Amino acid sequence: VKVDYPREFKGFAIKDPKDWDKPKLSSYEPKKFGEYDVDIEVECCGICASELFSLKNEWSGEPLACLSSSYGPKCQVVGHEVIGRVVAVGDKVSLCKLGQRVGLGAQASSCMACTRCSSNNEQYCLKSVGTYCSRYPDGYVSQGGYASHVRAHEQFCFPVPDGIASEFVAPLMCGGLTVYSPIKRSLEGVENPRVGIIGIGGLGHMAIMIAKALGAHVTAFSRSSNKKEDALKMGADSFIATGEQPNWNCDLADSFHLILNCASSTTALDLGAFTSVLKVNRQLISVGLPEKSERFDLNPFTFIRSGCSIGVSKLGSRQEAIELLDLAVKHGFRPWVETIDVSEAGVHEGLTRLDQGDVRYRFTLVGFNKFFGT
Ligand code: NDP
Ligand code: ZN
Repeated sequence: VKVDYPREFKGFAIKDPKDWDKPKLSSYEPKKFGEYDVDIEVECCGICASELFSLKNEWSGEPLACLSSSYGPKCQVVGHEVIGRVVAVGDKVSLCKLGQRVGLGAQASSCMACTRCSSNNEQYCLKSVGTYCSRYPDGYVSQGGYASHVRAHEQFCFPVPDGIASEFVAPLMCGGLTVYSPIKRSLEGVENPRVGIIGIGGLGHMAIMIAKALGAHVTAFSRSSNKKEDALKMGADSFIATGEQPNWNCDLADSFHLILNCASSTTALDLGAFTSVLKVNRQLISVGLPEKSERFDLNPFTFIRSGCSIGVSKLGSRQEAIELLDLAVKHGFRPWVETIDVSEAGVHEGLTRLDQGDVRYRFTLVGFNKFFGT
């Protein structure tokens, strides 16, 4: 493998969750280069709410795994909606070529040998390693894409078709794929599907467009009516402001084949109301993952009227990522993106504005090649 760039990567890193909004430009050693690994020279990277939870240590008990690791950098770079060029490939790589434009989402590795990996469910591999804040078997804690380069297993580097600009593809890599997978899986074989999307943020706004492209009738659920006009422009057929219409569910019994929860908190999630509008035996699936203290408020009677169930879905498979990219090209939908030039100040702005809900509807950090001189 010919690698003609420095052996250290550069990225925007924190060393303490207290400084979650002030990542500093840092150099660090990448993970050991495996024979199926690919190095991507980053061109742009989306900002996902998961990064806020990880950086602030709101998801797990362990503050930044890299700090206690015996091997690897003692700092943490996040970023997992990466688009860039392949600049190095391991000896056994067959899925990517040098120079190719690829995308990387929130997963960077899996065992590639278990039944999950061999049935297009590698996102659920028990040995899955995330693109950032996640431990490899040798102890190295993965470093993400707010960086000059990122290294990942070829399975998770998806070829990006021509005809769609990188800043719009980036958010599809995590957010888009995460909503595509459960929508596609639960609508398989359903005629005239009706879908409800809760939480019109980064994931939710892509879910509206993706569900429409898959032929569904879509209702957007948001806490207030502020996003109504936007949601209808994205393609939603109807819009309900749950916080402003107390009995919004009364006329909607037996309406939906799927309710997809994309909200980042369960505090406004009235499971009784949302399950009351599902058709028989259908599901409410949550992709929203709130901070660790939050819970689903569950009473068995919640489900009794329709025999419905509630589940959670994680990311998506490589096959689904490729299908999604194809769908985006064919249907011409694009995430609503505000670009921010990458720099310490740019990363700070993106993280803090996302934290304040001041985003319509996804930030993509751009200009990496200029900033890093790559
Ligand atoms: P955003 O912040 O862009 O959007 C979240 C939306 O949730 C907001 O737009 C808002 O919608 C709603 N919301 C925000 N605060 C609250 C609150 N206090 N109570 C109720 N609703 C609220 O986040 P993302 O779209 O980037 O991420 C959404 C969630 O998905 C996060 O929890 C993230 O960690 C998770 N995620 C999960 C993945 C998985 O594999 N399952 C993968 C990627 C992300 P509105 O204003 O319309 O009410
Ligand atoms: Zn994400």
